Amino acid sequence: MSKTEVVIVGAGIAGLTSAAILSKLGLSVTLLESHTQSGGCAGTFKRKNYIFDVGATQVAGLEKGGIHSRIFEFLDIELPKATILDPACIVDLNDGSMQIPIWYKKNEWIEEREMQFPGSSRFWQLCSLIHQSNWAFANNNPVLPINNFWDFTQLIKALTPSNLGTGILLKSTVFDLLRICGLSKNDRLIKFLNLQLKLYSQEDVYNTAALYGSTVLQMSQQPYGLWHLKQSMQSLSEALEGSLNKTGAKIIFGHKVHSINFDDQNKCWKILAKSKKCLFEYFANNLVYTPPPQSLLEQLKEPLNKKQTYKNRLNNLPEPSGALVFYSALKKEHIKKLASNHYQFVSNILGSLFVSISQEGDGRAPKGEITLIASMFTKTKDWFGLDKSEYLEKKKEFLKKIASELERQFDIAPGNWLHKELATPLGFEKWTNRPNGIVGGLGQNPSAFGLFGLSSRTPFKGLWLCGDSIYPGEGTAGVSQSALMVSRQILASKGINNFNL
Ligand SMILES: Cc1cc2nc3c(=O)[nH]c(=O)nc-3n(C[C@H](O)[C@H](O)[C@H](O)COP(=O)(O)OP(=O)(O)OC[C@H]3O[C@@H](n4cnc5c(N)ncnc54)[C@H](O)[C@@H]3O)c2cc1C
Repeated sequence: MSKTEVVIVGAGIAGLTSAAILSKLGLSVTLLESHTQSGGCAGTFKRKNYIFDVGATQVAGLEKGGIHSRIFEFLDIELPKATILDPACIVDLNDGSMQIPIWYKKNEWIEEREMQFPGSSRFWQLCSLIHQSNWAFANNNPVLPINNFWDFTQLIKALTPSNLGTGILLKSTVFDLLRICGLSKNDRLIKFLNLQLKLYSQEDVYNTAALYGSTVLQMSQQPYGLWHLKQSMQSLSEALEGSLNKTGAKIIFGHKVHSINFDDQNKCWKILAKSKKCLFEYFANNLVYTPPPQSLLEQLKEPLNKKQTYKNRLNNLPEPSGALVFYSALKKEHIKKLASNHYQFVSNILGSLFVSISQEGDGRAPKGEITLIASMFTKTKDWFGLDKSEYLEKKKEFLKKIASELERQFDIAPGNWLHKELATPLGFEKWTNRPNGIVGGLGQNPSAFGLFGLSSRTPFKGLWLCGDSIYPGEGTAGVSQSALMVSRQILASKGINNFNL
């Protein structure tokens, strides 16, 4: 049994980041992680001579002023070594038209998109204006959605004059922006945007909030950019773990939180965690919960029963997607000449496939070889409720289908794979403890984004939500922003308001 000021559940990027910030500012923190390693969806695993990134492969927010940079500077730790991705990705619509490289250099991208989508410049300019306004707002650390007077004061402080203009788009979608720009019938542009938006917002043009979509569509260009971590995705988590070691925060692996209750006698949260052999009790005034909020339905039973409206809200959250991820390796010479480390292409059979290929010397594959990871969305319910042989058969079928689509796309001879395996939602559930293997948080449509989203402040005093279901959404950069937001709320409740971050 132990008591700390804060217990954090989950050592993914959200949990590690909030633990590091709170501990740096002097709070006693215990971080509980069910797995034997940190990173969650942004972790890695080893197979033979290869290191595979489990989920996230591209990192935003490493540039100066970006969210990871700001937090790492505050923590006084070094950012992991990374190279900018230029192009960030090459998109192949596979409709006979030319491939679309998404360049990092702004002028090259402006030229490219004008050539690819003639007459679309007004749309991109509008997105850019909205994004600049969003960016200034996000950097002023708003707390969204607003739940009390303090949150409201933070919103007022964060607002800039331009936000008042973009605020009228709160309920608009990316398709509304296309319509304003006279592009609602531009099928090729819509097809391209659908692919990109689905990756980052889980929604298409018709359903992605305009304020969110405008930002994710600018992420790959100067002065922002997407980065490739030199020594696997794990280096981001390891750097944050390094900060926890310096500040004395406890990180406890192999402890799976089983139930959460408010202890009336001690007036604090009581967290029951299971290791392989034992049950452990932890007590804390503040509890930061980073797994998907749907998991609370299992773990917070008694308190939730007293707050039926909130319970219904959690019960009725839209079902996020699951992922199928194909992890493979081959000799570099066995894949046709590559112009990028990231591709997104349309397969007639499978829909969109997103491909990440390792770089020479980045620690993921031996010299002369590469790792190739391809991911696609899937409905989680298609994978549960099958008996073992049906499940294995279905998994084998998808492994084969994905491999043959990659062989066609990249001219790979079927005999040249050195390794291939597939993770399904069942695998993601096992690896990350996310219920039904859901990934990527909630779809960022106008009724779920920002002001209308799920709050980090719950109806239970001292219980906070953080991670990719909370503003501003998925991605290592998004969950770091949500970790900063929750940390600021906890610190403010202790009267700590002045720190330089
Ligand atoms: C296939 C795929 C590709 C992606 N690509 C990108 C990308 O290129 N770039 C990008 O930025 N993002 C990407 N993402 C999204 C990104 O990985 C996530 O949004 C982000 O890592 C989520 O971080 P988190 O800390 O909120 O949650 P998680 O990473 O899920 O971490 C939660 C942690 O909590 C632990 N946990 C859960 N339940 C319990 C419990 N009961 N007790 C104790 N511990 C528990 C889990 O083990 C896990 O470590 C991708 C995701 C996937 C799945």
